[in-house]
Amino acid sequence: MRRNNLKKKMAVLTAVSVFLSGLTVAAADGSTAGICKNEASERAAVTESAPEYITEGTVKKLNAGNNELSIASSSRFTSSWEWEILKLTNKQRLANGLWPLSVNDPMFEAAAVRASELTAKFDHTRPNGSMPWTALGECGVGYQAAGENIAVGYGSPQAVVNAWMGSEGHRENILSDAFVHLGVGHNRGYYNGQIADYWAQLFLDSGCDPRLMDIVSDVDGATAYHVGTPIDDMPLVLMAECSTHGECYIPVTSEMCEGLDVNKLGMQELVIGYNGYGIKIPVIMHPFTDVGNVWYTDWVVESWQRGTMKGLTDTAFGPEQSLVRAQFAIMLYRMNGEPPVLYKNQFSDVKKGEWFADAVLWAYDAGVVTGYSNSKKFGPADAINREQMAVMMYRYANAMGYNTSVKADFSNFSDARNVNQYAREAMQWAVGNKIITGKDNGTRIDPQGYASRAECATIITRFQDLYQ
Ligand SMILES: [Zn+2]
Repeated sequence: MRRNNLKKKMAVLTAVSVFLSGLTVAAADGSTAGICKNEASERAAVTESAPEYITEGTVKKLNAGNNELSIASSSRFTSSWEWEILKLTNKQRLANGLWPLSVNDPMFEAAAVRASELTAKFDHTRPNGSMPWTALGECGVGYQAAGENIAVGYGSPQAVVNAWMGSEGHRENILSDAFVHLGVGHNRGYYNGQIADYWAQLFLDSGCDPRLMDIVSDVDGATAYHVGTPIDDMPLVLMAECSTHGECYIPVTSEMCEGLDVNKLGMQELVIGYNGYGIKIPVIMHPFTDVGNVWYTDWVVESWQRGTMKGLTDTAFGPEQSLVRAQFAIMLYRMNGEPPVLYKNQFSDVKKGEWFADAVLWAYDAGVVTGYSNSKKFGPADAINREQMAVMMYRYANAMGYNTSVKADFSNFSDARNVNQYAREAMQWAVGNKIITGKDNGTRIDPQGYASRAECATIITRFQDLYQ
C-alpha cells in the first residue's frame, strides 16, 4: 500500500497537441481548444449501427506472408503494454462513438523514441529542443495533425489511461475525432530517485482513410476460446489499409463486435465492424479451462466438436497429459460408430464390463491392436507413444480399406533410426501424409515419446481430414 501511495504522489501527466494544416500550435498542457478538423465528422461511428458491408473471413496468423513484421513485432501487436494502452484508449473512444485508432511499426517506434527521451527529460520539448511529434517524421511517419500525452509514475496501462482520462487535456487528445493513429511508447527510468514507468502517446492524422482489410491473430487456433472468455481478451487484431500509412493494426474490442455470445458453447459467428465495413469469422467457444490459445487449440476443439475426444471432466481436457492405450482404442471405436461387441476373454487385463472393453475388443477384431506379443495383456493403462499411435492409425486405415500408398522417407529426422522396425512402414505413411510432423521445428520424430492428448487430437483430426 505504501508503495502505491508513493507512486501516486510522483505520477505526472502532461498533454500537448498540434495541428499543422495552417492552424495553431498548442504548446501548453491540453490547450487544444478551438481547433477543429472538419473531415473528422464524415467518419462513421462503428458502434452506432451494424456494418453495412460484411465479408466472410477466417483468422490468419499475424505476420503470415507479411515480411514487414518481425516475430518480436508480433507480440508488440498483441500482448505488449503499449498494445494494451492502445486497446484501453480505443475502448474509451468507442464508448464515445469515435473510431478506434490504429498503429503500425514506425508509429510504435516514434513513441518508443519519445518514451526513451522522457526518462532523460520529462517534457514535451525534446532533448534536442524540437517539438515531440518531430519523432514521427524521423521514423518515416507523415502527419498533418499530432498530439502527445505523457506520464510518469503509473505502474500499469490501466492506471495511466485512467489518469489521462481523468485529466482534461489528455482526455481531449484521447477523445479527439481529429486523430486516426496512435503510437504508444513505454520505458523505465528513474524519477525522483525511484524507478518509474514512463509513458508516451503520439496521436496523429494525415488525412488518412484506413479501410478494413483482414483479421489476424498471434497464434494458430485463435478462433477457439474457452467459454466465458471476454472478447477483449481474445488476441484478435484487425488489419486496416491506410491510404497514407499502409498496413495498420487495431486491437479488436467488444465494442466493435456483434453476434457472439461468449457464454454459449459451440460454433458461432462473430462480426467485427470498422468504418462501415465488417468481417464475419467463425468462433468456437469450448468448455475447457486448460486449453488456452496455443498451437493445438484448433485441433483439440475440432476433435471435441466431432466427438472423437471428450474432456477428462466437463471443464478439463488435459492437453498435456499422456494418452493411455485404452483411450486411444476408444477414439477409434467412436470414429467407427461404436458397434456392439460380444465380450471374449482375449486379454487378461481387459475384463468384462470395463469401460474400455468393447473398444479394445472391437479394435482387436479389426486388426488395429494386437496386445503385447510376449503376454496375454493389452496394457490399457499404459501411455501410448508416437510410433505405437502411428502403427494403430495405419492398421486402422488399412482395416477400413483406405488408400495408404502415399509414404515418405523420414530419414531426415535426426532420430529416425530410433523408429522400431515394426513401426517403420506406419511411420513412413504417417509422415508422408503429414499426420505426424516433426517436433522441435520439424527436426525430431520422437518415436518413443509419449503422445499427449493434444498431440493425439491433432493426429486423429488430421487423419479424419485425410480420409473423409
Ligand atoms: Zn494513416
